[in-house]
Amino acid sequence: MCGIVGYIGGQEAAPVVLSGLQQLEYRGYDSAGLAVIGENGDIQVRREAGKLVNLARCVQDQPVDGQIGIGHTRWATHGPPNQRNAHPHSSTDGELVVVQNGIVENFLALRQTLQDEGYQFESDTDTEVIVHLVHRYYHNGCNGDLPASVRQAIQHLQGPSAIVVMSKSKPDQLVAARLGNAGGVAIGAGEGEMFIASDIPAILRYTREMTFLESRQIAVIDPNGANFYDFHGIAVET
Ligand code: GLU
Repeated sequence: MCGIVGYIGGQEAAPVVLSGLQQLEYRGYDSAGLAVIGENGDIQVRREAGKLVNLARCVQDQPVDGQIGIGHTRWATHGPPNQRNAHPHSSTDGELVVVQNGIVENFLALRQTLQDEGYQFESDTDTEVIVHLVHRYYHNGCNGDLPASVRQAIQHLQGPSAIVVMSKSKPDQLVAARLGNAGGVAIGAGEGEMFIASDIPAILRYTREMTFLESRQIAVIDPNGANFYDFHGIAVET
């Protein structure tokens, strides 16, 4: 279980995400990636096997511009540590991206169900079932409501998971969720900007105002703050 960083606000997201991931390097990892919603509205994904410096070089060669982004350092549990298994994982239509810390213990059964529904898998990871599950509800039942889609999807998962989801149709929203003990999920508040991190050091240089997700909680984050819900969609005080 490795590192997650998210950012939404007025700064360029990629440098904030990369610097946050650097602060999480002590946790160990085998690959890294990030996704940013670009000026043209598309989600740009960069992923590399190996050290963060490889990802930083990739971003330098193929820059990503945009003020909302998520990043991940992976410690592989399912699937070899290579580029195609590095997070974020994307829905086939490029609408959604997901990063996850943890394990989807029932991913084989979920993958089979999703494949039977026509979903195509691009990686060997357990994580990829999450993005297709969110996609299923996003387009079928939840009518483009990202928090509701995440809430529906996460109910299918067994095992500990911390996830962050971003949708290209929602360039002012990040959704984070925690199920069981997949490490922490800190939500940090700044002035017109918000941060997500699996551990405090990743965002300490930007803010000291942090809230921590408990298991079975979802945070819906925009540049001006976060709202917290349980898995039934009921608002919770933190
Ligand atoms: N189980 C996921 C994978 O193998 C996430 C691992 C992690 O927590 O980094 O990709």
